[in-house]
Amino acid sequence: MKQLLLIPFLVCSLLSISLAQTFEKQRRQFIVNNIGVNALLGGVGALINKKPNEKPLKVFLKGAGQGALGSGFQVLANHNIYNLAQKQKLGHYLLSNFSNSIGSSIVQNAASNRNFWERWHMHYGLLRLDYDLVSRTFQARVSPSTLFMSYFAFQQAGLNIRSSLLTGMLIFESAGPLNHFGTSVGGFAGANVIVINKDLAPNEYWPLFAHEAMHVLQVERYVWANAYLNKTDTKLSNKSKLYSNLKKYIYFDLNGITAWALYNTQWPHPWICRYIEREAELFSSRKALPACF
Ligand SMILES: [Zn+2]
Repeated sequence: MKQLLLIPFLVCSLLSISLAQTFEKQRRQFIVNNIGVNALLGGVGALINKKPNEKPLKVFLKGAGQGALGSGFQVLANHNIYNLAQKQKLGHYLLSNFSNSIGSSIVQNAASNRNFWERWHMHYGLLRLDYDLVSRTFQARVSPSTLFMSYFAFQQAGLNIRSSLLTGMLIFESAGPLNHFGTSVGGFAGANVIVINKDLAPNEYWPLFAHEAMHVLQVERYVWANAYLNKTDTKLSNKSKLYSNLKKYIYFDLNGITAWALYNTQWPHPWICRYIEREAELFSSRKALPACF
C-alpha cells in the first residue's frame, strides 16, 4: 500500500516541527507537513469514494496529487496572514481567505474523487457558498458549526457588523478580557467566527487578530472530513426525505467538530506545543517558537 509509505514521513515531519529551532526551519517543516498530510488525505478520500470500475492505485495517486495542489494554496494563505498583523488592514484577511478557499475546495474535490476544478466553495458569515461547474448550480447553505460558535460568542461579545461584512468572517468584539472555558483570554476562534477584546492596544490587537484568523483558516482545512462521508450522505438522502430537504438549506459540515475533536487530543500539552496553536502563532508572528519535547 503506497499510502502506508507516507506515515513514517509524516511522523518524522511532526517531530521535526517540535524540534526545529529557527523560524525558517519551522516554517519549512509546516509547509512539508501540510502538503504531505493533504496528499494523504486526498488520496485516502479518493479511495473511499472510488467507483467500482476504477483502479485503486490510479485513484489514490490522482487524489494525492490534487490534495498536494490544494495544500499549496493553503500555504499561500498562511504566508499572507502575517501582513494582516503587520499592516493592520482587513483586506489581507480577504486575500488569505480567498487562497485558502481555493485550496480547501481542491482538497475536498480530491478527497471526493472528483476533478480538482469541479466544485468550489467559500464561507461568508453563517453561510457556506458552493458553485458546481459541472451541474452549473449555486447553493448557499447555513453552516451549523458557525451558527453554534456565533451563539457561543454572543454570550460575551457583540458582532462588529462592518468588519464582518467586509471580511465574510463573523467578528465578535468584547470590552475587556474574555472567558474561554474558565481561562481569561484576549481572543478565541472557531468555525467562521473570531471573538476578540477590542480594548487591546493596536500592537497587541492585530497580532492576536491574525492568530485567531489563522484558526478560522485552519478549521476550514478539515473539509476533507465531509468528503469521507459522501457515500453515507448519499445513502441518507435516498432514505430520508426530511434529510434531503434539510440539506438544501443546511450544510452539515464536519470541519468544526473534527477540528475541535483533534484539538482536544492535544489539550494536556502546554498551549504553544499544540499543533494548531504552533502553526497559527508561527505564521502570524514569523518568529521562531520554543522547542517542544
Ligand atoms: Zn490560538
